[in-house]
Amino acid sequence: MSSPTVSSNGYPFTSVQQTSFKVYSPVRGGTERSLPSAAPPRLPFSRITEDDLAFFRQLLPGRAITDPDMLESCNVDWLKSVRGNSEVLLRPRTTEEVSQILKYCNERNLAVSPQGGNTGLVGGSVPVFDEIVLSTALMNQVLAFDSVSGILTCQAGCVLETLSQYLEERDFIMPLDLGAKGSCHIGGNVATNAGGLRLLRYGSLRGTVLGLEVVLADGRVLNCLATLRKDNTGYDLKQLFIGSEGTLGVITAVSILCPRKPKAVNVAFLGCSSFQNLLETFQCCRGMLGEILSAFEFLDASCMGLLEKHLKITNPITECPFYIVIETAGSNAVHDEEKLHNFLEKVMASSLVTDGTVATEDVKIKALWSLRERVTEALTHDGFTYKYDISLPVEKIYQLVTDMREHLGDRAKNVVGYGHVGDGNLHLNITSPTKDPALLAAIEPYVYEWTSGVRGSVSAEHGLGLKKRNYIYYSKPPEAVALMGNIKAMLDPRGILNPYKTLPDNLNLH
Ligand SMILES: Cc1cc2nc3c(=O)[nH]c(=O)nc-3n(C[C@H](O)[C@H](O)[C@H](O)COP(=O)(O)OP(=O)(O)OC[C@H]3O[C@@H](n4cnc5c(N)ncnc54)[C@H](O)[C@@H]3O)c2cc1C
Repeated sequence: MSSPTVSSNGYPFTSVQQTSFKVYSPVRGGTERSLPSAAPPRLPFSRITEDDLAFFRQLLPGRAITDPDMLESCNVDWLKSVRGNSEVLLRPRTTEEVSQILKYCNERNLAVSPQGGNTGLVGGSVPVFDEIVLSTALMNQVLAFDSVSGILTCQAGCVLETLSQYLEERDFIMPLDLGAKGSCHIGGNVATNAGGLRLLRYGSLRGTVLGLEVVLADGRVLNCLATLRKDNTGYDLKQLFIGSEGTLGVITAVSILCPRKPKAVNVAFLGCSSFQNLLETFQCCRGMLGEILSAFEFLDASCMGLLEKHLKITNPITECPFYIVIETAGSNAVHDEEKLHNFLEKVMASSLVTDGTVATEDVKIKALWSLRERVTEALTHDGFTYKYDISLPVEKIYQLVTDMREHLGDRAKNVVGYGHVGDGNLHLNITSPTKDPALLAAIEPYVYEWTSGVRGSVSAEHGLGLKKRNYIYYSKPPEAVALMGNIKAMLDPRGILNPYKTLPDNLNLH
């Protein structure tokens, strides 16, 4: 079995045996920087045997996959930056099947990598070595929808966009939306606590998810699938699993509070001559659009350049250093349009905004949104991408991009910034023609030290996965990380669930 390596430049992947991996721990004084994001050596899990395969084939007839061609796509992440070597893909349909799989794997000490739509961006969704891939793709049933309360209960493998369509037919929407909606699963969204484009309006999944059903590492089923807005009976255990990236349990069902479908949606795409003007536009926008504001997103001119170059998307307005996507969603078209109109008049008159266009019809709304949503995709065509998903005080969001550009000079091909201004969340991306260790050494730990210096978070919404696990100490104190280790050890004593992910290597759980 060859060992995987993180982030070679797409195919083909080079396999590097990590025999001398050292722990990276900035807080405790460790200074090893060789490859803190690379995989540690394989832990002493059992290897899969013919008897194991026989068990899985009997439990899941036709759904225990060993065909290498079919395994290919679940061994490689969306960015094509991480590759595992799993030899088995399991596709359960029911919670009971998941329970039996995990009970068996726990007894046999077989490691398991839970997988949803495999759109995660931190190397968390694919195996690192030969972990069994447990896919939720066939767990795609809506279990119930209450049109009075707006509470949807569904299996974890429902695709986000399918749920959105299901709800729209019933005059509701999902409280979250993101560029990967056509592939990502609601279970994966919950497991990563995905933020996305509507968080500004509807809040985080920590508030909208009302209940979860989770299968623990030993196969026990934890049924906390409540559908209540209020429930203060003891500790809120579901919160442990939201954002736990498959390391504490496999989420099998979700109940979630869904808002009514807005009657009127408007999208404005605006240009600003400086980031300061963009921030002032944000302030003005909050004040004047108030309760109908549902998104405030931005991209810089470099992102626009990549959209034009790689995806042949046309800029609908004149060139500007910064672009904003504003969405309003409300219940009265006339009222909303009037509010938006007044706001636009004000920001144009005060020169905060230099140009703009507004859409009220679906097709044009989608076209304007794609300018923001497709930046991630455009970046994949620009060479090797170093990706950072950072939370910062909102007024500091773009300073990091400017400082990074200056710091790297011409060593980087492109340094671009985009993200969720309304949530203080910057997506900083640095591209290079090929994977470049010298460039990486210039970016890290600079980016993490900068972030930590302003008390930001090194993972705003993507999680830590394999790639960022050893950087946790930049945003969390050692006592908190140690407590996370205790929780992991309590819920998954053999460490079979998504090993090498989320928690740093120096916790030494084995
Ligand atoms: C184009 C694009 C745009 C994106 N935009 C955003 C964005 O705006 N906001 C944002 O937050 N993210 C974004 N992402 C990242 C990604 O889509 C989200 O993290 C998404 O929530 C992952 O869902 P998934 O089903 O693909 O999970 P996967 O990628 O399959 O898995 C992600 C993690 O969750 C675990 N997991 C998956 N399912 C389960 C389960 N049922 N039980 C337990 N653990 C599980 C996996 O083990 C892994 O650690 C984007 C990604 C792409 C490619």
